[in-house]
Amino acid sequence: FETEMARLAQLNLVGEMAAGIAHEIRNPMTTIRGFLQLFQENDRHMQKEYIPIMLEELDRANDIITEYLSLAKNKQSYQRPESINRIIESLLPLIQAEAVMSGKHVNGQFGYCPEIQLDDKEMRQLILNMCMNGLEAMSIGGTLSIETYQEPEHVVLLIADQGSGIKTEHLEKLGRPFFTTKDEGTGLGLAICYSIAARHHATIEVSSSPNGTTFFIRFPLHSK
Ligand code: ADP
Ligand code: MG
Repeated sequence: FETEMARLAQLNLVGEMAAGIAHEIRNPMTTIRGFLQLFQENDRHMQKEYIPIMLEELDRANDIITEYLSLAKNKQSYQRPESINRIIESLLPLIQAEAVMSGKHVNGQFGYCPEIQLDDKEMRQLILNMCMNGLEAMSIGGTLSIETYQEPEHVVLLIADQGSGIKTEHLEKLGRPFFTTKDEGTGLGLAICYSIAARHHATIEVSSSPNGTTFFIRFPLHSK
């Protein structure tokens, strides 16, 4: 449970990271803008003094962006035959605790699923991100359902909530980095889910109505 909490903290970190990046880049921009405004007002003698600072600030902003990109680029999947049910079951206490805290229920229904190629760490993140979204969508309580079952060519993971649903005009924006309708949202959760799914050759299907939203994640039984 403790390591799960650490994972959850890691998820929060993604949000903090995005906010942090915005802040770190806005600071040098503000500084540089201020100096440029001074120069425009023809304060020529100041230029020699302030241009090195401006260059330094630009380099710093550039470093932050490079770091962020390398973090995203190095994403490597370590997939091996795994039981998706085993992964979900180990996460369930954490999701349940999160739900109970805000007066919601979690319902798990796990059918027989053969082992498939999975990256354990990535799968945990995908499941947690989607479950957190589901719980957050249910402002007045309800049940979050997590199901698994087998189809002829796929293992299916279903995550359904009884929240207020996703507006039609928002459906196409799902998974776009920084798309969020929440005041404190990062808009990175689903983007991460979609990239994890892609690395697993999995598809994500969304079905939403004002009574709730269901995500179907389909993993190929025989991945190339
Ligand atoms: P965040 O949760 O930080 O807003 P996400 O990438 O996790 O970012 O989700 C992006 C947006 O997609 C959310 O702000 C919300 O509008 C919508 N969304 C995702 N999952 C659900 C859901 N289960 N029910 C309703 N809206 C959802
Ligand atoms: Mg989210």
